[in-house]
Parts: sequence; structure tokens; C-alpha cells
Amino acid sequence: MWIKFVLLSALAGAGLAAPVALIVDAPSPLPPGVASSFRQEIDQVFRETGYHFTWIDRARMRPEDSFPDLVVLRLQSECRMDAPPAPLLPSRVRALAWAHRTGDEVLPFIEVDCARVRHMLRVLAHGEPAAAQQEMIGRALGRVVAHELYHVLTGSPAHASVGIAQASLSPTHLVSPTLAFTPREINLLSQRSLAARSLTPAAPDTADEAATESGR
Ligand SMILES: [Zn+2]
Repeated sequence: MWIKFVLLSALAGAGLAAPVALIVDAPSPLPPGVASSFRQEIDQVFRETGYHFTWIDRARMRPEDSFPDLVVLRLQSECRMDAPPAPLLPSRVRALAWAHRTGDEVLPFIEVDCARVRHMLRVLAHGEPAAAQQEMIGRALGRVVAHELYHVLTGSPAHASVGIAQASLSPTHLVSPTLAFTPREINLLSQRSLAARSLTPAAPDTADEAATESGR
């Protein structure tokens, strides 16, 4: 298993990345500091999985645009620490983010409750300079979205006991210097990214849980 994982990682690092377009649907453009931190965190977390993400602003999409693989990312309310307080979404079970599902299928449609993310970070962000606060929420967004991307890209609702794929992410998890997938999730993502490029068949799904929400 270890040799296979090394091989998959080597292929992922050899320019054979599977492209995925992230279509971002936000009520307003993200501040540069938030967007930069958000993208850097996604790139960092997925660097060994063989996936490469292209960020697309939904407001700037053209009818003729097409993508071989895409995930829609809908940001609810303002994803910035300096925005006025907003009501938390009432309908979900206190999730920071979730991927839509139809039956057992995880759909490529992720929603993020930015008001809840901001609420979760408010104590840790208090007193920090504005730039540090924007970097903080960008990193947090990267982690909750990475969690949901894992469900979408693998089709697995399973969770890990540690790392980004664990069922519940605390404020400390969201702002710690690093938080990563375990080798199991990286291996599964690597297999799926290679399958997406028709290099190898997809591995069987070993899901053993049913939840898709993160950060409960
Ligand atoms: Zn989950």
C-alpha cells in the first residue's frame, strides 16, 4: 500500500493533475487577503492528491464556458471578518459547510455558511490586525471547503478521526498553523484524480458513515 501511495503521489507531482473548476458564487467579491489565503490553503491541502483547482467567478462566466470537471461553491453571506453581523442559517444542524446529496450520491454543489464561520472565529480573531483576521478566515474557509471537496471528489461520506476529514472542526482546527488529510484520504483522492484522467479505474468506495456536514 505504501509503494502504491508513493507512486500515486509521484504521478500527481509530475504534472498529471486532474483539473477541477471551482465555480464561486458569492454575494460580493472576496477581499484580496481572504481570497489569497483561501486559495493557498486549498492548494496546500490538495498538493499531494493529483487535483489542480481553477477558480472561476460565477458572475463573470460566459455561456460558452465549459469545464471537464467542476464544483459549484456557494458562499452564504459575507466571508470577511469586517462585515456587519449576519443571522446564522437556521435550517442546517449548525454546519459550517455542506455538500448537497441525492440519495447516496454526493453532488458537486457545496454551500458555506460564512456567518457561522465568522461567529466561530470571533474570539480568536478579537484584537488581531485586520490583515491577520482576513488571513484567518481565508484559511478557515479553505479547510471547511477542503472537507466538503473530499466528499464530492471521492463520493465518500466517511470521516477520519483526525485532520481535515474529521466530522467536526473546532475553532482551533480552523486557525492552527497546519491541518491536513491523513494518508488514507490522500490515497483515496489520488486514486480518484488518476481515474478522472483515465489512468486507472476508480477504487471501490469504502464509506462507512452517512454524514456530509463539517464543523458541527
Ligand atoms: Zn463531512
